[in-house]
Amino acid sequence: MPGDLPPDDFRSAMHRVADLVADYLEQVGEYPVLPRVRPGEVRAALPASPPNQPEPIDRILDDYKRLIEPNVTHWNHPAFFAYFSITASGPGILGETLATALNVNSMLWHSSPAATELEELVCDWVRQMLALPEAFRGHINDTASMSSLLAVAAARHGLPGLEIRQRGMAGRPDLPPLALYISEHTHSSLDKAAIALGLGMESIRRIPVDADYRMDPKALATRITEDRAAGVLPLAIVATAGTTSTTSIDPLRAVAEVAHGEGVWYHIDAAYGGSAAICPEYRALMDGLETADSIVLNPHKWLFVPIDCSLLYLKDPDALKSAFSLVPEYLRTAEEDQVTNLMDYGVQLGKRFRSLKLWMTLRTFGVEGMQERIREHCRLARAFADWVEASPDFEVCAPVPLSLVCFRAVVEGSLEEQNAFNERLLTAVNAEGSAMLSHTKLDGRYVLRLAIGNLKTTEAHLRRAWEVLQRCAQEIAGSPASPR
Ligand code: PLP
Repeated sequence: MPGDLPPDDFRSAMHRVADLVADYLEQVGEYPVLPRVRPGEVRAALPASPPNQPEPIDRILDDYKRLIEPNVTHWNHPAFFAYFSITASGPGILGETLATALNVNSMLWHSSPAATELEELVCDWVRQMLALPEAFRGHINDTASMSSLLAVAAARHGLPGLEIRQRGMAGRPDLPPLALYISEHTHSSLDKAAIALGLGMESIRRIPVDADYRMDPKALATRITEDRAAGVLPLAIVATAGTTSTTSIDPLRAVAEVAHGEGVWYHIDAAYGGSAAICPEYRALMDGLETADSIVLNPHKWLFVPIDCSLLYLKDPDALKSAFSLVPEYLRTAEEDQVTNLMDYGVQLGKRFRSLKLWMTLRTFGVEGMQERIREHCRLARAFADWVEASPDFEVCAPVPLSLVCFRAVVEGSLEEQNAFNERLLTAVNAEGSAMLSHTKLDGRYVLRLAIGNLKTTEAHLRRAWEVLQRCAQEIAGSPASPR
């Protein structure tokens, strides 16, 4: 019988993989952050058809080292400053590896008691770290997109008298139009939730923001009043603690007053920023977090756990369970009244053992260690913002409450010319290779984003990025096509 890789071969390959991983983590800083590879190049270097005959694992690992490792974008690089910078920490990688070997599917307590109970435990640990009331119960999803979708689904299920779980939404003249209130800066995952849940993009109400990109609660209240007068039923309000473009934090308590006054489900997207709330001083910026009906926080963003790992907390977990629990005969178990069956809290049945990597990371660093790391990232961001502010050639474009700096080169010319200059600057810096940044648009301005979230990032990496930014800006300004 062919069987699996022979045990001795597996053991020696696993040792080699351990070396590959450890070498990568030690040396990743030597790669250009953004690989110098053209579209289609990786695929063209690999056989178009699968091998008919077995290949030795060592040859496969050689190809991994030669073709795959160098051609990823190096998210675990200390100078990866794009999107939200993240870390697959040592303990997180170890936990992920062990979970893969166990290969448990924690759909039911019965199908993996330890995975179910560890998930409940670590969610409660993080709840305590955030100082959330005991009522909040968490579970782990793959991404914030899924967590938010489930939160909106729970809100929809809670609307009295509509029976959407049973009767659906299509072809129902009795259903009023539903509205989902987000801000101009809410992450697009909420738009996708509206698409996936059959609400449609027309259900989205994009509430204006203030000068610091925070939702305007008065505009929210006005819009809800107008909607109700027009026969529209408010479904849910979503505030963000750490928006994607700028990390602005919506006025959570003021939004809660509107949500509670109107009796509307209140979801807080704290996918990135929520991690900072483990430090009391940053928690103060998120005053009102505990007023939500549901909260999403991604340990794979800023608690140093490898992707994927997203926590969804619900004040009333039964709201989600009653929306989705469905137990076919083949999934019935004797102890179902005494235990949590994680399949009851969402759409998917199969479930990875994600809590192991979070548990190992939390234990290895400890709460104080986690706090120190978050504080250091915020300090580094503040230091970078200070350099930008001190330069006549650059400007900071948004407040820096956490570990992200939005800035741009200051150039003369029309807004289009300024934007084109900054776009060229980003392309040039990323092509240079020693750092990688991303961008957004704020009030029509093309703005560079420098996010800090990697545990290996030091001030030296930031200095180097700042030097490259200044040098590239000078070169672009000196080139014929540029206004300055
Ligand atoms: N919410 C916010 C505020 C985000 O910044 C992001 C991604 O960056 C998301 C949600 C989506 O996260 P995920 O990739 O886990 O779905």
